[in-house]
Amino acid sequence: MSIVNALSVDVEEWFQVGAFERTIDRADWDALASRVADNCGQVIDLFAAAGVRATFFTLGWVAARHPALIRRIHAAGHELASHGWAHARVFTLDPAAFARDLADSRKAIEDAAGVAITGYRAPSFSIDQRTPWAYPVLAEQGFVYSSSVAPIAHDHYGWREAPRFAFRPLPDHPLVEVPVTTVEALGRRMAAGGGGFFRVLPYGFSRWAISQVNTVEQRPAIFYFHPWEVDPEQPRVAAAPLRSRLRHYTGLGAMAGKLRRLTADFAWERMDRVVAAEVARLEPARLALAA
Ligand SMILES: [Zn+2]
Repeated sequence: MSIVNALSVDVEEWFQVGAFERTIDRADWDALASRVADNCGQVIDLFAAAGVRATFFTLGWVAARHPALIRRIHAAGHELASHGWAHARVFTLDPAAFARDLADSRKAIEDAAGVAITGYRAPSFSIDQRTPWAYPVLAEQGFVYSSSVAPIAHDHYGWREAPRFAFRPLPDHPLVEVPVTTVEALGRRMAAGGGGFFRVLPYGFSRWAISQVNTVEQRPAIFYFHPWEVDPEQPRVAAAPLRSRLRHYTGLGAMAGKLRRLTADFAWERMDRVVAAEVARLEPARLALAA
């Protein structure tokens, strides 16, 4: 039996990324060219051609401005979930500000789509050892799952000590955290769940890494990318640091082709359905503890 992996898209504009946060002022966002609806349209078409469903973790800021896009994502059979309001990383907020960010983003998405959402992904995988209060807030607001942790050391993010696969972060609540995929080989742990690594490295690395996770560890991969990654024509931010520009612009032209191979080579589903399968796997351990 082949393992079904989780496919996800973090829905944000080309200018709402960590790489440009010191170069582009948030006050200027509304004056910049919006490309997210066109980019997402391309992604929705690619998924339809591949016959796959995915989860779209969407900024409330985007949902409030593009309700037709939100309805289109839902109508195509994909899951909608929250990516926060305006890409503030969780460790830059306090519990009250996080609660507002979460509630506002959820309302914008639910108002646009007319459906309830149950999933959350922190901007830049920013739930880590600094934010022990984040999971109680998610639980209070009724979220079923979070996919907000990168269990790896990285220059911008990462919670090295976190479990690599689905876990329950709270002792008295069924909320599930499903970390983004990493692979372990030759004594090293490597990011293997998408982002810049998927664009910059040859496709063969990702195919190998996901195969390892599926066959050796018998677990689903949790993969993500962004709509702006399929947009080689996006405006260039010349004032950004060279390192940021390399990270953001390398491999954009090859991205759609890589995604077609990825969707053909593995089985994919929405996050909520993969989470349900992971919960079924978690239950026996919990029952054994209770006995
Ligand atoms: Zn993001």
